[in-house]
Amino acid sequence: MKLNPKKVIAPKPPKKPSPPGRGLLNQAFLALIIFLFLASGYSLLTGAQKSAEEISLSTLAQDISSNKVTGLTVIGDKLDITYADGKQKISKKETSAPLTTTLKNYNVSSEALAKVNIEIKNDQGFLYWFSSLAPIFLPVIVIFAILWFLSRQVRGAGMQAFTFGQSKARLTTPDDKNQRITFKDVAGAKEAKEELREIVDFLKNPKKFLDIGARIPKGVLLMGAPGTGKTLLARAVAGEAGVSFFSISGSEFVEMFVGVGASRVRDLFDLAKKVAPSIIFVDEIDAVGRVRGTGVGGGNDEREQTLNQILVELDGFEPNEKVIVMAATNRPDVLDPALLRPGRFDRRVTLDLPDRKDREEILLIHARKKPFAEDVNILLIAERTPGFSGADLYSLMNEAAILAARENRNKVSQFDLIRSIEKVMLGPERKSHILSKKEKELTAYHEAGHALVASVLPYADPVHKISIIARGRAGGYTLKLPLEDRKLQSKKEFLDDIATALGGYAVEKIVYGDVTTGPSSDLQVATALARDMVTKYGMSEKMGPLALEGMAGKPIMGIGIGDKEYSEAVGTEIDAEVSKIMNDAMKKVEKIIKERRNTLDAIAKRLIEAETIEQKEFEEILVANGIAPKKKQDIEHQN
Ligand code: ADP
Ligand code: MG
Ligand code: ZN
Repeated sequence: MKLNPKKVIAPKPPKKPSPPGRGLLNQAFLALIIFLFLASGYSLLTGAQKSAEEISLSTLAQDISSNKVTGLTVIGDKLDITYADGKQKISKKETSAPLTTTLKNYNVSSEALAKVNIEIKNDQGFLYWFSSLAPIFLPVIVIFAILWFLSRQVRGAGMQAFTFGQSKARLTTPDDKNQRITFKDVAGAKEAKEELREIVDFLKNPKKFLDIGARIPKGVLLMGAPGTGKTLLARAVAGEAGVSFFSISGSEFVEMFVGVGASRVRDLFDLAKKVAPSIIFVDEIDAVGRVRGTGVGGGNDEREQTLNQILVELDGFEPNEKVIVMAATNRPDVLDPALLRPGRFDRRVTLDLPDRKDREEILLIHARKKPFAEDVNILLIAERTPGFSGADLYSLMNEAAILAARENRNKVSQFDLIRSIEKVMLGPERKSHILSKKEKELTAYHEAGHALVASVLPYADPVHKISIIARGRAGGYTLKLPLEDRKLQSKKEFLDDIATALGGYAVEKIVYGDVTTGPSSDLQVATALARDMVTKYGMSEKMGPLALEGMAGKPIMGIGIGDKEYSEAVGTEIDAEVSKIMNDAMKKVEKIIKERRNTLDAIAKRLIEAETIEQKEFEEILVANGIAPKKKQDIEHQN
């Protein structure tokens, strides 16, 4: 059997809500015209019949005997009579007896009758029925017509009462060349593409799999941090296979009313089966697929019903139905285990943050239609953006183009790209945020504190840039970048990170003998890190190898009821451990700052003058003060 991907029902045209005022007038007018038309048709019909004179059977018999009649048409028990002088008259025959018998009873001779042309018509004729039923049905039809127009009107006004349970999925058909995305548009993600190629193969060539008795996967779950290209990849699978793609977000199933979500799920699956082979893509499935039965206050009935319906549909369709359900989430840890069991979403594809090579490829994809100056070095940008997701890189390219356009250049330069890295990372600069002299000095010392601590401690990331120009929500910032991409973090790195975060706070205390509100977010970051070390990663000597809190975070559904798995006593111990880590770090930082006060002053002084120090200049200051800058390991240049 050859599959024809083009054989697809046309998507429902989007309902255009007519403007309320004009639409109402138009439709009332139309209704009126139809009403007039029907009414006039009715009166014409009945009028035509009334205009003919009705005569009795005996008169008819006399007229036939006297040869005045030339034609007779019998329709049921009605008689249409044509006279020699052209007149038309009507009459009624007896229903019980044939017409000829009746006429003979009226003494009409056979010869006289033979001169009349008798025609017998089927009394089921449309006109007959219409004229006899019209008086009953016309008013009904008119009333229904009016009701129909009114109901359309009401729907147009936004009540949508009749389309409530329909799925809201957006359909991309394979003929839609503009929106077509293939694996070529997705950089990196090699393993993910490899896995998904199998799905593509099945959708293109299901017979091969079915013949050998293979059970075809029904559900594929894409997991990965936000912006790693899950949605993009799902579209690419549909594009590669050339099948219809229904896309809906998990939250779109759920409305205010119970049962709507489940009905939308049914509708969506029915639709997808009709146009099979096809892909149903449920984005952000955690919106409906969270673990059931954890609800606080019973407000999630609707979610559970929707989830149940999805499970029912997944189990319900046959392997040869050629519908594949894909779903994406960045919280696989909160999904209901029922979704993940074999036969449902048993294929799981993980998308990681891109590494340097992948970042370069992603940047190149998004650089496609942008003119670049000769100085652009995409490799360097890829090196400088560890931790960026695909979406961040896309945004970086876009910001760079906007910057160039704003400055009326027709090519994007390397400088635009570099500035965009910081913009994407930290938000736009706020140059208008003017600091008083004292604030400026304090900010400079604060940032110098972070930078100094990061440079002295062996496991902290090297400093790339320091600035006291406000950006986003930060008053100033110290940009640190790891020497290379890393997936794992060690305890020593965590400890040095905590110390670095405390650098600003410690400096304010030592240099000014006072503390401002400035370091509040530094303190939050540091405390959270310390707490995670104790409760999640088993990095505290005293608590030992215990995971006391799940990765999913404490409160469920954002309401303050946590599922702590430990006692009050252990809670107290945790708090003690966290504050021990923080205090140890603080001591370490204070020591560094006191010992290297000269270096701190030098960095702060330069910052007050220049407001921004780049890596090269910063390292010169370090060397001048006897600190060896961290060596950038040579990243092997593939490509
Ligand atoms: P997610 O669904 O994982 O949150 P998206 O698929 O919506 O992320 O990705 C957002 C955007 O980021 C995409 O539209 C694309 O422009 C870009 N992007 C992400 N990953 C990649 C990639 N691997 N290759 C190319 N572009 C990517
Ligand atoms: Mg997405
Ligand atoms: Zn700070």
